[in-house]
Amino acid sequence: MNEYSRYSRQWVLKQIGRDGQKRLHESRVAVIGLGALGSVSANLLARAGVGHLILIDRDYVEVENLQRQVLYDETDLSENLPKAVAAQNKLAKINSEIRVEAITADVNASTISELLEPVHLIIDGTDNFETRFLLNDYCLREKVPWIYGGVIRTEGMSYVVLPGAGPCLRCLFGDPPAKQDIQTCDQVGILAPVAHVVASFQATEAIKLLAGHFDEVDRRLWKVDIWNREFKAITLDHFRDSACSGCQSADYPYLVKKRGTSAVSLCGRNAVQITVHGPKRLDFKLLAARLGRKADVKFNHYMLKCRMLPYEITVFTNGRAIVKGTEDAAQARSLYAKYIGA
Ligand SMILES: [Zn+2]
Repeated sequence: MNEYSRYSRQWVLKQIGRDGQKRLHESRVAVIGLGALGSVSANLLARAGVGHLILIDRDYVEVENLQRQVLYDETDLSENLPKAVAAQNKLAKINSEIRVEAITADVNASTISELLEPVHLIIDGTDNFETRFLLNDYCLREKVPWIYGGVIRTEGMSYVVLPGAGPCLRCLFGDPPAKQDIQTCDQVGILAPVAHVVASFQATEAIKLLAGHFDEVDRRLWKVDIWNREFKAITLDHFRDSACSGCQSADYPYLVKKRGTSAVSLCGRNAVQITVHGPKRLDFKLLAARLGRKADVKFNHYMLKCRMLPYEITVFTNGRAIVKGTEDAAQARSLYAKYIGA
């Protein structure tokens, strides 16, 4: 590591120093979800010299991502790249001295333990509470800190969950909000700068933790409205819920809950994700030849996209697929069976 030049403006800070820089280099961090928040955090942590980044995302780059998701460009779009791969390519050009791993997968109760081998810290770049509650249970069980972030419209929130040393997500919110109560960026929009602010909060606390400044981690919940220039910090220590079974009695319902269905509607996106249980390896050449007669098909090393209006199915090599044009899980499953195969 050429720490004397690349990171010199960072380690000269009294908060970092050469010792902190070395700690950053020895750190292993997972970023789950590489949308607006995840791509800003991954960018900052790669440039800061975090030695090993694991980037996990289930989606591919789409044109409406480019307004705010800083790691992607029009080439990634035209090449139909999964976000994790596009992000890995970009970060490798930014910092070749670190290790960046790309994983295109859905994080759920069946996959989380395998995907997140021991890490020092997890950054939340997800866009849904279902995954955050799962992540919260995982981190309580493994005693790994994780940094919550959420943004919508011009507003955002951030909070560092330190298992055993403060309230967890379940202490604060109880259960995930009901699906009908949740608004999504697809429905109500998002102003890019608020994601940069919230991701910068997340990355700053991550750097503190990784560089060894546990006592300096901000323990408050931060709320921001970037349009109205409002910042609010809420002290939460008294929030630790004595009834939270995660914190009090090592009960992790989200972690043991296996998904009952293999088709999940993706909130606000008019799309359904189909997950295939068990090993599956698709041969895209064969599939494209078979589909070519009834659909418009494109594929690369990572995924195959077939369009038959008003639907579009994107399928990954392990058989997982995103079916666009419907929110009906049963209909998506039947489209999958018809075009991809059971
Ligand atoms: Zn708790």
